[in-house]
Amino acid sequence: MSSKDFALGKRIQQLLMDNGLENPIINDNIAKWGELSHTNEMSNKFAEFLHLLGMDLTDSSIMKTSGRVVKFFINELFYGLDYKNFPRISSNINTFNYNSPLISTGITINSTCEHHLVAINGSAIVAYIPDKKFVGLSKLNRVVDFFARRPQVQERMTKQIFIALQEVLETQDVAVAINATHNCIVIRGVKDAATENLTLELGGKFLDDAVLKTSFYQKALSIQN
Ligand SMILES: [Zn+2]
Repeated sequence: MSSKDFALGKRIQQLLMDNGLENPIINDNIAKWGELSHTNEMSNKFAEFLHLLGMDLTDSSIMKTSGRVVKFFINELFYGLDYKNFPRISSNINTFNYNSPLISTGITINSTCEHHLVAINGSAIVAYIPDKKFVGLSKLNRVVDFFARRPQVQERMTKQIFIALQEVLETQDVAVAINATHNCIVIRGVKDAATENLTLELGGKFLDDAVLKTSFYQKALSIQN
C-alpha cells in the first residue's frame, strides 16, 4: 500500500480552507508537477534569474544548478505543497482504553520562511489524548514534516498541524508546540542567531484543564534546539 493518501490530503486541505488556514497556493500549477514541460519551464525561468543575478551558467560547476534546484524544491524542500504527498495514516482501535496524554517530543522541523526563502529549523512537540483510536507514532512526525515542507510562516504551520491532527486523530484533545530559529533573523536585520521562537496551539482538554495546560506550556518552554 502506498505511504501517501491523496484523498485524506484533499480532505485536510478543505478543512484548512474552511478555517482560512491554507497557504496562498495555486493548485493548478502544483498539479503540473511531474510534467516534463512544466519542470523545464521552471528550470529555464530559474536559470534566467541566476543569469540576471550575474552568475555565469556556462561554467561547469553551476551549469546544472537551476535544474537541480527545481528538483530539490519539488522533491524535498516544498513537497508538502502537493497533497498527493500527504502521509497515509495507519490506525488501531484503542481497545485498551489508553486515555492519558501521549506526548511526542523532538520532532524535527525543516521548513522555509515564505518571505525570504531561507531556513526555519527547530523542533516540535505533539501531544494528544487518544479517544477511540491510535495512530502509528511516526505518523505524527510525518504530518508535522508535511506542513513544514512548504514556504511557511511558523504561526500558520503550527495551526495547520494542529487542525490536521485533530482530524486524523478524531479528537479535540491535541496540543502542538514548535520552537524554531529563523535564518532570516540570523542573517539579516537584527542578526540575532540566538533567538528562538515558540508557537503553541492547544485544543480540548489541553486548553480546558489547567494542570494539563500548564504542564504542556512548561514542556514547550523546555524545548532545546
Ligand atoms: Zn523571513
